[in-house]
Amino acid sequence: MESVELYEILGVNKNSTDAEIKKNYRKLAKEFHPDKNPEAGDKFKEISFAYEILSDPEKRKIYDRYGLKGLQEGSDGFGDASEFFSHWFPFSGGAGGSGGGEANSRARQTAQVVVKLEVTLEELYNGNVSKPVEYKRTSYCAACEGEGGPKMTLEQCKACNGTGRTANYSFMGAFVNAFESTCPSCYGRGNTIPEGLRCTTCAGSGLVEEEVTQEVPIEKGAPNMLKVLFQAAGNQPQVGERGDLIVVLVQAEHPVFIRRLNDLYLRDIHINLTQALCGFVHCFQHLDERTLCITNKPGDVIKHGELRVITGEGMPLRNNPFERGDLFVEFNVDFPDDNFASIDQMHLLETLLPPREPFVMPEDAEEVVLMDVPPYGEGSGHAGGAHSAYDDDDDGHPHVDSVQCHTA
Ligand SMILES: [Zn+2]
Ligand SMILES: [Zn+2]
Repeated sequence: MESVELYEILGVNKNSTDAEIKKNYRKLAKEFHPDKNPEAGDKFKEISFAYEILSDPEKRKIYDRYGLKGLQEGSDGFGDASEFFSHWFPFSGGAGGSGGGEANSRARQTAQVVVKLEVTLEELYNGNVSKPVEYKRTSYCAACEGEGGPKMTLEQCKACNGTGRTANYSFMGAFVNAFESTCPSCYGRGNTIPEGLRCTTCAGSGLVEEEVTQEVPIEKGAPNMLKVLFQAAGNQPQVGERGDLIVVLVQAEHPVFIRRLNDLYLRDIHINLTQALCGFVHCFQHLDERTLCITNKPGDVIKHGELRVITGEGMPLRNNPFERGDLFVEFNVDFPDDNFASIDQMHLLETLLPPREPFVMPEDAEEVVLMDVPPYGEGSGHAGGAHSAYDDDDDGHPHVDSVQCHTA
């Protein structure tokens, strides 16, 4: 596995002590040093890199947990909610093929802020509104003007010799891929400030966190999970330009309507059997507060579970708000309760309804009783008896099969 590799390079294992790691590193570094062993240049790089990670308790911990990937992504992002969210909605920020492009797009990702904003279906239907979203971002510290301390005390960073970049290596099987990344000691600025002189407001980072509000326009017909981009409204990194803010519009659940792309579904519409057979008028309020009434003529029978459509009453299309999707209605037909009519009335009813199928009782038929199914876990007496009769069968088949055989 990936996380074993660095240990393998140094000839140690996951449980090795710091002293053991150091000892093996020294031995290998001597052996594979480019002066002594010019053929093995990459091997020396591998050894140096492995030691750099495993000799640092913090880096070793991240490596053990997340592998090399964890180190590349930085250890400090894991607790941050917006960072977490950006893993869910990754934005391909110009996938550069070279190592430098990779590092740049990573830097842009950390400068990017992703927040979600809940919007109602009404807001998405009607549009022409804006909603504020509050979020946190980094900005230059006003006390030190982003320098982290007094300018004259700046010293060249020893870790990167003032370049602000350090070389990193990643392994792909036997291949070592070298790429540059921001120097962790000076945050890419190339210089550092002596500890006692660091700005107290920002602890020398040059950055402070601030809470800001952004008004987000809600477009008519905007789809669920739409990403709205605000350029240069995200985090200010130590070096480079401010990142972008991305607001993800998350559509809230609606009690009456379900949205499926541009179509709407009226949920949970119930009519009774009389309405289903003899017509009805059903009114409801649409998302723009218009009252719409469905009139169904007598004789236009609506079956239980039947889907009907009202064309042009769905969501407005985002690119063409004058056009709209459709509104679907699924009908639940509620049947009357037991004994809703007398026997005489039922004979009368039967003269109106379609005739029964002709039926002759087969001679050797057994008559069985149809009962209500008790709710799960209830009733031990009758229900238990019924279950055992159903389950226990010498040939392993339930009794239902044999009943079907008799009638067939
Ligand atoms: Zn400061
Ligand atoms: Zn540096």
